[in-house]
Amino acid sequence: MPPSALSRHSSQHDAPTVIIGGGIAGLAAAVELSHRGQRVLVLEARQRLGGRAASFREPTTGDEVDNGQHAMMGCYHHTLNFLERIGASKKLVWQDRLRVPYVDLASGERATLCAGGGPSPFHVAHGIARFGLLPRRMRFEALLGGVRIYLLRQRRDPLLQRITIEDLLCLCGQRSLTRQRVWYPIAVATLNEWPSRAAAAPFAEVVARAFFGSQRDAQFVFPRAPLSQLYVDDARAFIEGHGGVIRTGAVVQRLLCQEERVYAVQLRDGTMLPAAQVVCAVPPDHGRRLLLEHGIDIPEAAYSPIVSLHLWFDQPLGLPPFVGLLGGHAQWVFDRQNLWANPMAQTSGYPYIASVVISAAHEEISFSDRQLEDAVLNELFRAFPALRGIRLRHVIVIREKRATPSLTPCFERRRPATQTKIKNLFLAGDWVATGLPATIESAVASAVAAANAVVLRRERA
Ligand SMILES: Cc1cc2nc3c(=O)[nH]c(=O)nc-3n(C[C@H](O)[C@H](O)[C@H](O)COP(=O)(O)OP(=O)(O)OC[C@H]3O[C@@H](n4cnc5c(N)ncnc54)[C@H](O)[C@@H]3O)c2cc1C
Repeated sequence: MPPSALSRHSSQHDAPTVIIGGGIAGLAAAVELSHRGQRVLVLEARQRLGGRAASFREPTTGDEVDNGQHAMMGCYHHTLNFLERIGASKKLVWQDRLRVPYVDLASGERATLCAGGGPSPFHVAHGIARFGLLPRRMRFEALLGGVRIYLLRQRRDPLLQRITIEDLLCLCGQRSLTRQRVWYPIAVATLNEWPSRAAAAPFAEVVARAFFGSQRDAQFVFPRAPLSQLYVDDARAFIEGHGGVIRTGAVVQRLLCQEERVYAVQLRDGTMLPAAQVVCAVPPDHGRRLLLEHGIDIPEAAYSPIVSLHLWFDQPLGLPPFVGLLGGHAQWVFDRQNLWANPMAQTSGYPYIASVVISAAHEEISFSDRQLEDAVLNELFRAFPALRGIRLRHVIVIREKRATPSLTPCFERRRPATQTKIKNLFLAGDWVATGLPATIESAVASAVAAANAVVLRRERA
């Protein structure tokens, strides 16, 4: 269709809301808008949906595996609502309470951070007060540190926008051992960045939401289905069931604007598609390319990698569902047999899979597969000597070089809002200014904000 046939006035009235990007943010925006009676068209560049949270068929075993283990917490309210809406909540497994076993690789010490039964925030305080990886006198230091971080966040202290997590922890009187054994594992897992680089503000938000919320907010929640089955299948059915259209392999190349409004999007193959409103739910560098010509300056992002290994063994591992390893390359080990109360997709005959996560893998990203396998197995055997006798049948390494934007203080201060200067163009994605780390919850929160803005604008039009 030539642009002239798509003048804003002739086509915009019956055009759908176009959502660029079929990652979690794009799908969540489409679900929210479909639920609220809006017609949507989702355009995804790749041949599959799900973006950075997806699963694929592993050729050797035939198993469907994730691009990396994803975890949530009970404080992921937006995500849990989204999954409830699309009917996918049954694909989740909840801890009965916050329970995180750790092994320190250097000393061999092990302890579990386990919430008590009291009211918030005493449930988590109870856990820290009994956390055996800290000497008693330092448990109080950790408790006090948590309260200080919470108070800074409660009064929206502008300092949080300017400093790193490391600065914040020092400011709150946290000595090296407390930082390493209590705070760094949380910081690296949620920010996917080294504490010396990551912004304090989203970390403080995590501490407040996860540990100063309800008992339920502090519980870990895991998928018990491969990621694409959890996030994509039911979302697609919901959107299409409400009359929405999803196109994969549709790379949006340009936005066509007139009088400060987008009236169409142009695909790489030249196709023009009319748009009443647009939600741009792509990563920051893609957004920059699309929006720069319209004078919308998306901050340049550096990215932080995640390396994941899936290891197939010939016998049950008998580990807790997940364990934090301190002081090595591997940070978290998930025993999938134990994690998935009902394994849904394993076909290989070797259902005993350990998934290992290395976040903020700036060094490990350049290790060879062999180096990673050796390092991870060595750490697993050090942490769990009983595993030495079991045989590794197969292993794959997944490197996500651009797993998440690196939320440095500089980037954090420049995260853009939902509304752009183009009136019917809205931003979504884990990197938009939600106040949260670049996570699934941030992606869904940004999507809900964008959907609200679309509906509000439509009502006013
Ligand atoms: C290995 C790994 C582990 C993780 N673990 C966790 C975890 O445990 N907990 C957690 O909460 N989060 C985790 N995350 C982060 C989480 O996956 C992301 O925050 C989330 O998936 C981001 O979703 P999004 O929709 O904002 O972006 P994306 O998933 O990047 O989606 C954007 C989509 O836009 C498409 N696109 C780009 N340009 C165009 C274009 N021009 N036209 C059309 N489409 C386009 C892309 O192909 C992509 O599908 C992890 C991420 C990785 C990689």
